[in-house]
Formats: sequence, C-alpha cells, structure tokens
Amino acid sequence: MKNILILGGGFGGLVTAENLVKELGDEVQITLVSPQRTFTFYPALVRLAFRQLDLEEVTFDLEKKLNELNVRFIEGEVLHLKPSLHRVQIAGKEFNGDLSYDYLVIAMGRRLATEKMYGFFDHAHHLLGVSAAQKFGKAVDAFSEGDIVVGLSPDAYLPVPVCETAFTLATRFRDEIADEKISITAVFPETIDKAFGGAELSKELTAAFEKHNISVKEEFSLRMISKNEIRSKDDETISFDLLMLLPPFRGQARLSENRITDELNFVNVDQHMRVEGMNNAYAVGDIVSFEGPKLAHIAIGHATIAAENLALEIRGEEPTAVYYHEIASIIDQGGADSIYLHYGMWDASVYRLKTGTMWSLVKRVHDKLWRKKHKTA
Ligand SMILES: Cc1cc2nc3c(=O)[nH]c(=O)nc-3n(C[C@H](O)[C@H](O)[C@H](O)COP(=O)(O)OP(=O)(O)OC[C@H]3O[C@@H](n4cnc5c(N)ncnc54)[C@H](O)[C@@H]3O)c2cc1C
Repeated sequence: MKNILILGGGFGGLVTAENLVKELGDEVQITLVSPQRTFTFYPALVRLAFRQLDLEEVTFDLEKKLNELNVRFIEGEVLHLKPSLHRVQIAGKEFNGDLSYDYLVIAMGRRLATEKMYGFFDHAHHLLGVSAAQKFGKAVDAFSEGDIVVGLSPDAYLPVPVCETAFTLATRFRDEIADEKISITAVFPETIDKAFGGAELSKELTAAFEKHNISVKEEFSLRMISKNEIRSKDDETISFDLLMLLPPFRGQARLSENRITDELNFVNVDQHMRVEGMNNAYAVGDIVSFEGPKLAHIAIGHATIAAENLALEIRGEEPTAVYYHEIASIIDQGGADSIYLHYGMWDASVYRLKTGTMWSLVKRVHDKLWRKKHKTA
C-alpha cells in the first residue's frame, strides 16, 4: 500500500487529504503532520477580532476531522526533508524521528517574517492568528481618539483582510470620523491593483474607501516602525496611534537546503503542482512560489489538482491535471460596497468584477457552510 505524507494542516493540507480519501479511499495510507491540533479558518479572523464571530466558529479539531477521514494525524514540526531516502524528520511531543513516504505533499503555508520589519514586534498589531486577532480587537475596544493605520508591508501577499479591517473600523467609528476625532488610513506598498495581482479594481475600491472616509496611501513601501510613526523607503512618514499591519511573508527557510525554493523560500512547482527538483513530491497553498495574493481558495485549487494527479500517479497513469492561477475573492465591506473579483493571473482576459450587498452575504454564507461541512460530528 502506498504511503502519502502531507506536511501542514491548513487549507492546502486538509483539502488534499479530503480529496485523496475521496479518490483513493483505503487504497493508500495517508498521514498528516501539523504542529497544531486545531484548524483555523483564517478568512474569519477579521470578524473574530471585531467579535462578530466566536472562537468556536472559526476553529475546529483537526485531529478529530482527520480521524473521521481515516487519515493518521501526527502532532509535530518538520525539521528536514530527506528526499533521497524518501523520509522526513519530525519533532513532536509523541513522535520524534523520521517518517517515510512514497509521495509527499508540502503544505506548510507562509512564515511571518516579522524580523524583516524593524519595530513590528514592539509597535504593530496583526491578524494572522487567533490570539493576535483577539489582541487587536481589544486594542480597538480601548481606542477612542487618534489616527488608525492599517496596511501591508512589502511582500505581504494578503490585501483582503487589510481592506476588510479598514471598512469594519470605518463603520464602527463612523461618528468619531465625522467629528474628526478618529482618522483611518489604508497603506499599500505598491498600487492597489498590484496588491491584487494586477487585477483592475482600484476604481471600485478607492470609491468605497472614499465613501467611508478612509484615506488611501499607495506606493508606500514600508521600511520601519517606531512608537507612533511608520517610515517608507523614501523616508516618507505617517503617524499612528493604532497600527494593524501585515508583516512580510516568506516560505520555509528550512526547505532551501533541498534547493526547491525561490529567493523568498517559496517552493517552485510545475503546472501539475509537482515540486521542481524533487521526485514524488507536490506542493500546495501559500508555500507555493506563484505571483500575486495568497488566498485560501487558491490553496484549495492547488490541493484539488495535486490530489487528482497523485491519484493518477498511484494508479500508474501520467499526472495530467493542470492548475490555472486565478483569483476569486470577495472583499466584504458589510454592505453595498462589497466587491467580488475573479481574475486570471496567467490570462488577464479572465476578469469579472461585481459590487453589491449580495457579495457580503455570499462570503458569509459560503464561509459558514465551509466551516459547518468541516466541523466534526
Ligand atoms: C486574517 C486573514 C484573512 C484572510 N482572508 C482571506 C479571504 O478572505 N479569502 C481567501 O481566499 N483567503 C484569505 N486568507 C488567506 C488564507 O487563509 C490562506 O491563503 C490559507 O490559509 C493558506 O492555506 P495553507 O494551507 O497554504 O496555509 P496555512 O493555512 O497557513 O496552513 C499551513 C499549515 O502548515 C503548518 N506548518 C507550518 N510550518 C510547519 C512545519 N515546520 N512542520 C509542519 N507543519 C507546519 C501550519 O501549522 C499549518 O497547519 C486570509 C488569511 C488571513 C490570515
């Protein structure tokens, strides 16, 4: 029986496991390794921060879910890939040592390179985990007057929560903004369009920001943060009393020893999601070296293609499923200015942009159904 080892228990790892179970059932043994026993539904963290959702609604028990699928779970962290031996070295509470595999799926997500942004640790909030989101929520609760800045650092490939946070803050502090007691500025390292992989949506998004009295600063390439000020590479400054910033993203440095990564340590793959330069290995999700924003639905797209190709390979066939790099995303403003974007990163003729309250509802219902489907019985 073939043995498939999945590294990482986020959207990419979990959806790969689910699809493999669907395709191959008991024909294979699947093992998933993750340092956390809990799955976090990241797209809901903005709503968690603002107490629109409870913690139980944005997390679920990953081990229990995998048990239901008959997938073995190992709590642990990947230390080294040893592709010539078809083994991976794991450090965990219950297991320490090498796990062997016939096929490998790397789904270890992105790393927050907070060390690349001077002052980040001391002065910035972020939203890239449950406790960070809750901490930011508490800081917002305690805030009554001053300047709020939300933004993206260079190489932070995640504009959606920045926009959603700005809109939620603007709604919450509508009166204080009108009285000029509070201001909100959204900062992007390049243009808004570039933050969304080149898709043209700046007209709609800028109009929505304007309507909510949110100032926008594009091409502000952040270099450092001090107590009440962010500074760009051009030495421009913006002052703040409350800062929510997404730090630079990187892949996993430990994978560079295997010579499968780009200069930011994201893994290079071919159009079938196979790792370039490593046999019997696939990579999915944020860890993959594709340009543009890093999104859950993209991780799910990778996972679907990787699982289809793995099933073909295991049955002795050529992996023929091909991945097309597209963004399909909703920026939930909570009302009529919500935006749906569908954009082909490799084919700009794939472009659809819609606005309206419906898209806010679609995102909330879609997310709720996804979480419900993945909750354990
Ligand atoms: C606040 C926020 C809002 C977002 N909003 C949206 C949205 O509206 N729409 C959208 O499509 N996307 C959104 N995203 C992006 C989306 O959540 C990510 O693209 C998605 O989580 C990527 O899935 P992944 O499996 O690649 O990585 P992750 O979900 O990060 O999972 C990676 C997994 O690998 C594990 N891992 C890491 N290192 C190791 C190691 N050394 N050994 C073993 N395991 C390891 C991690 O513990 C984790 O289980 C949002 C993200 C955030 C943070």
